This record gives sequence, C-alpha cells and structure tokens, in this order.
Amino acid sequence: MPSIQQLPPSVITKIAAGEVIERPASVLKELLENSVDAGSTRIDVDVEQGGVELIRVVDNGCGIPAEELPLAFASHATSKLASADDLFRIGTLGFRGEALASMGSVAQVMLQSRTAGESCGAEMSCRGGGLSSLKAWNGGTGTRLEVRHLFFNTPVRRKFMRAIPTEMGHLSEQFTRLALSHPEISWTLRHNGKLTYELPAGMPFPERIRLFFGKEISDHLFTLEAKQGAVALRGWIADPSCERGTAKMQYLFLNGRWIRDRSLGHALQEGYRGLLMGGRYAVAFLFLDLPPDQVDVNVHPTKAEVRFRDGNALHHLVHAAIRERLRAENLTPRLQVPSTTLGGLSTQSTSMFRLQAQAPATSLPFTSSFLPDPPSGYRTRIPEPQPSPEPQPEVAGSGRSIEQLAGLLGQDGEKSGSGSGGDLVSGGGSGSALPPAGSFKAIQLYDTYLVLETDEGMLVIDQHALHERILFEALKERLRSGPLETQRLLIPDLVELAAEAAARTLECRDELAQLGLEVGDFGGGTVLLSSYPAILGRRPPQEILQAVVDHLVSMDRPPSREVLLNDLLSLMACHAAVRAGDRLTADEIEALVAQRSMADNTHHCPHGRPTALLFSRHELERQFRRL
Ligand code: ADP
Ligand code: MG
Repeated sequence: MPSIQQLPPSVITKIAAGEVIERPASVLKELLENSVDAGSTRIDVDVEQGGVELIRVVDNGCGIPAEELPLAFASHATSKLASADDLFRIGTLGFRGEALASMGSVAQVMLQSRTAGESCGAEMSCRGGGLSSLKAWNGGTGTRLEVRHLFFNTPVRRKFMRAIPTEMGHLSEQFTRLALSHPEISWTLRHNGKLTYELPAGMPFPERIRLFFGKEISDHLFTLEAKQGAVALRGWIADPSCERGTAKMQYLFLNGRWIRDRSLGHALQEGYRGLLMGGRYAVAFLFLDLPPDQVDVNVHPTKAEVRFRDGNALHHLVHAAIRERLRAENLTPRLQVPSTTLGGLSTQSTSMFRLQAQAPATSLPFTSSFLPDPPSGYRTRIPEPQPSPEPQPEVAGSGRSIEQLAGLLGQDGEKSGSGSGGDLVSGGGSGSALPPAGSFKAIQLYDTYLVLETDEGMLVIDQHALHERILFEALKERLRSGPLETQRLLIPDLVELAAEAAARTLECRDELAQLGLEVGDFGGGTVLLSSYPAILGRRPPQEILQAVVDHLVSMDRPPSREVLLNDLLSLMACHAAVRAGDRLTADEIEALVAQRSMADNTHHCPHGRPTALLFSRHELERQFRRL
C-alpha cells in the first residue's frame, strides 16, 4: 500500500465538487440560491444544450465588490457566515462557501459583478481551478455568472450526463423550486434562446402552478393556513382527484428552501387518508416558516434534508391542518365530458367521460385550531333546500344514530339476494331525522349503484362505498364517547392462530376492546373471544376476528393507536356495509341516501374510493344541446 499523503488543494476541491455539483441542475441551483441571497428582484436564466454547454444567471442583487472577486472563487469563503454559532441560525440559502470554488474546478466560469456603490464593475474567470486576472466590467448593479463546458476536465463525469431533455428536466425542476418559493422575484428561463418560463414578481400562486404544472392542478387547489407557536404553515393542497403515482408533486419549502422530509411527507399523506387509494400520492405545495434556531440545515451535502428540533409537533401541525381543510370541502367527483367530443354525439363519447374534481368555488384561507378533533356528528347539509316545511331536528352524534345505522343493516342474518322487505330501515326508517318519504327519487342499477336526482344534477352512488363511509363515520363518532356496544358470547369462542398472529392480536387487546372485540390469551396461540361489536351482528364472530388478525399481521410495523383504530374501524365498516350485488328495497335505498345527506365526509369511502359521482344538470343540458 502506498504511504499516506496530504492531497493537493486542486484534488480536494475536485472531490468537494463531486458532492455539490452532480449535473447542470446542481450548478443552476447554486447560482440561483446565490442570486436570491443577494436580494435580487429579477433573475434571468439562459441555458444551452441542457446546461452542459452553458448556464448563465443574471441578477440585479447586491453584487460583489471588485476586490472580493478572487475570494468568491476560494473554497470555504463566504459572506454569509462569520462564526460557528451562525450555523444554528442560518437565514440564507447558501453558507458553506463551496459552490463557486467547486464550479471553478470543473468548468469554465466567468463572474462579472458590480455593487451599487461602485462606479465600475469587475470581472474574473476561473478555468478548471485557474484564476484569471481582475478586469474592469461595464455592467449594471448585480451579478452575471456564466458556467460553460461543465466537466470539460472531468470526462468521466461528462459521460454521466444524460440526454439534453433529461438534463433540461432537472434544470426546470430546480428553477421551479426556486421560483415557487420566491414570488417576490421576477424570473425568466430560456433554453437555446427560447423563452420557457416567465414569471413576473407577485404573480398569484395558482397562476405559477398553472404555468409549471397545468390547469388540472391549478384549478383544483385549496389554500391552507395554520399556525402553532412560532411555526407558520401556508400552502395550497390539491383536490384528491389530482392524485399522482409518485410523491414528486409534493413540494415542501422550509424558510424559502425546498426540502425533502419523510416525516412531513407522511403527515401530508395521512391528511389525505381515506381520500386516496393505496399507492397514490396527493399533490401539495407547503410552506413552513419557523425560527432558524429550530432547524439544522447543515446535515446534507445539497441541503435538501434538514433536521427539526421538534419534528413531532410539525408532523401534527401538517397532518391536522390538511385533514381539517379537506374536511371543509365537498369532494364529490364530477363527471365531465371533454368539450372536444361535443361535435359528435357518437357512442364513443361515453367512453371519454373522465373524472374531474369539482372546482373550488371559493378557497377561503383556513386557520386550523389544532383542537384534538372537531365535533363532526351529523349535520343536515345536503340536500338543499330541505323539502320539509318544519325545521329538521339535528341529530347529534349520539348512540341513536348508530342504532339507526345498525337498523340499516338488519339484524336477522344474511339478506337474501332479492328485495327482502324493509329490514334495512327497521331501526329508524320513520325516524324524524330522515327526510320525508319521496324526497329522493332514486333507483338501483345492477344491484350496486343508486341513481338519483339532486338540485345539482344526476348523482350516481356506489351503495357499498357509501354505506361503508357512513358506518365508518358513525363508528368513529360513537367511539369518541366510549367503547362500542358489544354482543357477549355465552360461551367464549376459541380461535386458533399462528403464534405470531396471536401475539400481535393480544398486543392490541386494549384497542380491540374499545371496538367491542374482547380477546384473552388461552395459551399456545389460541385466543379467547368473549364479545364482538354489536354492529357486526350479522357476521360470524370468528370471521370478524380473523379479518382483524389478518390486518394486524399484514402491517410491517406496529401502528400508532390512532392509525390502528382507524384501520380497524374501516375494516368493520367494510364488513358491516351492504355489498355490491345486494338488491335493496325502495325504503332501504331511501334510508341509505338520506344518511348520505346527514353524515360528514361521505364523498369517499374509507379506502379512498369515491362514493358518488355527479353528472351535473348543466352538463346534461350541454350534452343534449339544450344550452
Ligand atoms: P455561499 O453561497 O455558500 O456563501 P458560494 O460559493 O456560492 O458560497 O458564493 C461565495 C460568495 O460569493 C458568497 O458568499 C457571496 O458573497 C458571493 N456571491 C456569489 N454569488 C453572488 C451573487 N449572485 N450576488 C452577490 N454575491 C454573490
Ligand atoms: Mg452559494
């Protein structure tokens, strides 16, 4: 083995460059951050050939005094940090003083700058680490930085460059992140001389989003605002119908810096729980502002990850704010026929129906109160106007509603396939909480869907999904006031399980008891089941327990109590709900539809499927050319 040697500085900077400069987009990120830190109000970017040939950033910021130009290229030279203490109260995007030095070592960099106080600016270049002499430069206040022939002296790196469109994609992404987080700046981006983006200062956020991501998202944003102590959260979250297959469209900014954070990403997804199918991701733009001393930004080479002093509080803030904001929206998906099919009323046009989220009519700023959970209960919300002349009594979230729902299920074993009388409404069909008979004209299709007329249009309901959601909400509400009603077994059931499954089940004993499922240890992997939830009266107790056990075993790590209860409730609701294929009587249909209008959150089932689709009256009239 050769002897240990101190590396020459030129090699050290090249090694450091490898960490900071990975591709053209990383150069652009560093340049833009410098321009933002310089207090610019205008930043113009030009790139050629995906940035491999040229990246030029021109700003009107504070500029660099002529005598400091050589220092700007020196490694670990910065104007943004004075002492180690400053590291814990960083207010700028940059602070390590490495970027320009790194670029200078792997590219041909030209730096031209002038401060407001100087009558003439100066320029200096750096080629593969070699500095030129200082020259006068006759430009305006601000800085002009050109990075040419990236990796010209590191051919291995250059080979790693991808095709131009790929590199351009990365460049745009960096530009997007900075432009979204600094709306006070006017931005332009040109590629090979062609204007790609132009964002004047102060352009409203949704318009920025439309430019970068299109109308589908910008038309379906809800504003979000919440505060907790010194932490402020602002943002725009998209209707669940804008979901994506990856988390890429979840933008998170901390004090004006784009970051990645697993925990906050999780909080965001949790906020959409029940509105997205598995494996789908919400679209959101969140801006967090917190005092610099509550976060360490010096933990990642490109500062893309940070460490929070109190990550749990932030998780809670994001989760609660999003959940409550979405709760305030009517998220029933609308069916819309693209206007391009209007020309031919061919049969094909039906296959071109596409799901569109309802555009938020008004997106009022929303301040979350961060109380544990708002009382939701049952409210008479839709249908409007109420057909009844007398005021509708509000049904509080009491045991009564759950009885009505239990009544909806029928307690007398499996329903027969064809209409089996009014057992679905036996518990409360004529109860005062239900709108008077005949107020809904609904029919059942394929023993699965209910179609009805509303003021807004034609509503198509998935009977299972809707019933499941109604039961889920009712059970959740019911659970707030104590354990669910149980049905005792005269003789406890002995259920044999695999050893691990038994252990998992017994671990969750308390939560299960809350839900009315009382289990005990019989030893040897056998579990004693002594009661089950009354609402599941028509399912065999063993089957209920087995479903719960299967779920517990399928989780890869022990869930939080809240998540566990949520999951189990949704499981119970699924088992208790009417199924697709169950023929319903007119009374049953009416009861189910009436429940929809009284319960909150009925637009999606607990697993994230929509419970109903609206074909608006307007759309019908448009399609039949009545308009
Ligand atoms: P850092 O941003 O971490 O300080 P850089 O290597 O990116 O390190 O920049 C070094 C120094 O050069 C900065 O601290 C700043 O003083 C100066 N500088 C770089 N770009 C600009 C700019 N666009 N406007 C004004 N000053 C700049
Ligand atoms: Mg910098």
